[in-house]
Amino acid sequence: MDKPGKYYITTPIYYVNARPHIGHTYTTVACDTVARRQRMMRYDTWFLTGTDEHGQKIERAAVAAGCSPQEFADRVSGEFRQLWERMKLSYDDFIRTTEPRHIRGMQALFKRLMERGYIYKGSYSGQYCVFDELYVDVTEPGAPCPECGRPTETVKEENYFFKLSAMEGPLLKLYTENPDFIRPEARRNEVISFVRSGLRDLSVSRTTFSWGIPVPGDEKHVIYVWLDALANYITAIGYGSDDPKDKKKFERYWPADVHMIGKEIVRFHCVYWPAFLMAAELPLPKSIIAHGWLLFEESKMSKSRGNIVRSETILDTLGADTLRYFLLREIVFGGDGSFSFDALVQRFNADLANGLGNLSSRTLSMITRYFDGEIPYPSPGARDASDDAVAELAAKTIAEFHAQFEQFQFSRALETAWGLVAAVNKYIVEHEPWALAEKEDQDSRARLATILHTSAEALRIVTALVHPVIPESTARIWEQLGLGDISKLNLPGLAWGQLPLHTKLGKVEAVFPRADKGTIERMQQMEQERAGQAAAETTGESKPAALPTAAAPVAPVAPAAPTNNTITIDDFAKVELRVGQVKVAEKVKGADKLLRLEVDLGTETRQVVAGIAKAYDPEKLIGRKVVIVANLAPRKLRGLESQGMIVAASLGDDGVPVLAGFLEDVPVGARLK
Ligand SMILES: [Zn+2]
Repeated sequence: MDKPGKYYITTPIYYVNARPHIGHTYTTVACDTVARRQRMMRYDTWFLTGTDEHGQKIERAAVAAGCSPQEFADRVSGEFRQLWERMKLSYDDFIRTTEPRHIRGMQALFKRLMERGYIYKGSYSGQYCVFDELYVDVTEPGAPCPECGRPTETVKEENYFFKLSAMEGPLLKLYTENPDFIRPEARRNEVISFVRSGLRDLSVSRTTFSWGIPVPGDEKHVIYVWLDALANYITAIGYGSDDPKDKKKFERYWPADVHMIGKEIVRFHCVYWPAFLMAAELPLPKSIIAHGWLLFEESKMSKSRGNIVRSETILDTLGADTLRYFLLREIVFGGDGSFSFDALVQRFNADLANGLGNLSSRTLSMITRYFDGEIPYPSPGARDASDDAVAELAAKTIAEFHAQFEQFQFSRALETAWGLVAAVNKYIVEHEPWALAEKEDQDSRARLATILHTSAEALRIVTALVHPVIPESTARIWEQLGLGDISKLNLPGLAWGQLPLHTKLGKVEAVFPRADKGTIERMQQMEQERAGQAAAETTGESKPAALPTAAAPVAPVAPAAPTNNTITIDDFAKVELRVGQVKVAEKVKGADKLLRLEVDLGTETRQVVAGIAKAYDPEKLIGRKVVIVANLAPRKLRGLESQGMIVAASLGDDGVPVLAGFLEDVPVGARLK
């Protein structure tokens, strides 16, 4: 067998305009699990995460929070590190884009791109979206951004441009020759069609604000925040440093084996990043894996729609392993998954408490009781076909688990492992070892030993396989099995029949206490308290981009009521505003202003007819989160029933609509109040 080499895996670096939420946890846990397993497979593994701290959005958020951009970045970046430390994530390095090592490396990369003729100076006048930090392809001043719908700003500036247009051919060649470069397939197809539609040169500097890395030799320009952010993957491992130690590290680990990302940043990673690297003549990452989104459901047990967005609540109640297991088991990697307290508690009870927890505690406590806490000898004369079936299934489980995990199919790999858990639990129930224990004869005693040995061996195998996913609880089971320190386990050599006879068990105790209805209530309570705290703090980053108070553009708008007419909070409470997500959007025949939308409100899907066709192309709206007046009486527009109204600002004399939206990720179904 070849000696395993190195393995370099990264999360995206998280933008410090928002605090860590469960979506960040999901990506980071997935990478942590892969990194842990690669280390167990004896790879020289390097796992990088970090924070992205420059750009106009951060500069503005700092102003709103009344502090300097650096202070603002320090605070939010600190929150990420605190959470990851609390979860005991195994990252090897945490890069911040405000660190000298990054600034030095970024400037070296910029210089290299200039020297090679891929960056040139030009001038630009056009519409700029502050939210996306992108120049966008619209012409009218103030027109909505085609990416996010927020109003754009007119910007005229001298800019440095990257010759992205020269990269169309090389990029398409890359995607064709390396089908695994972008996974899953659906993302790959999107990227290919985006590149085929033509690439224009990309502006890679700004002069309209100063919170960024200065362009070397022309310091009134700062480097475009996406170029700055993407470069972290090389600057963190020593790119641009003259120190021989750094040079060696860069040569050791680059190119990355996996950049794991969310699907919303595919274009930056799969188009811009390889283009920058090719232009700089640097090796390309081997693979970019895009996962789906975590959507939120309301808890069925709750009257209030408590949407969990923070990991801390789960850590405080069910622990880090439960959160890790849930995220990787419940969500088919690559697709979208949904999150609710109910689903979390159900998974915990079914798979962890009843499944693995039961297997562990009944096997180990019977060995303690009947064999004085020593793994018994499985007499060959006392074996039957059912014992062999468990051994065969275990061998098959090892092979399948490895294969699925290597394809990032975490959910299927865990399903495979739990197939063995269920089979052994069934085997125990069918053979009733407790009944055999009551008999005194030699045969019964030999049979009992064989059954308990078989069960303990299967438990050892499952525990070893799933250790990267639930590191804490498997370490405890391993100790109870009397096997000592699980980090010394030889995962590549894992096979049936390695459990040493007469191993003395450790102290046996339950690893997963059952959760009850009270657990859900406690979590909801904690979420509400946390939400209250967050609202009380004025960090400025959690304000919605547009407040849902503007008139809707759908129906002819009545003259505005006199502004001195105030309403009470109870009047306002009558209006049910909810976050929805557009699933379907299409033009309404014969009405050039109207779009027919199907909007997911979490609990149901509504048809809404909205007068926004002139400002929004239907295909750009799909997937977008919008604000819906959910309790408006239905009415008919052009023969179509509109079940609710979409909230938008109305700009200028023509009432150009701009949809209300949020700067932070908000769960579908959340109520605005
Ligand atoms: Zn935008």
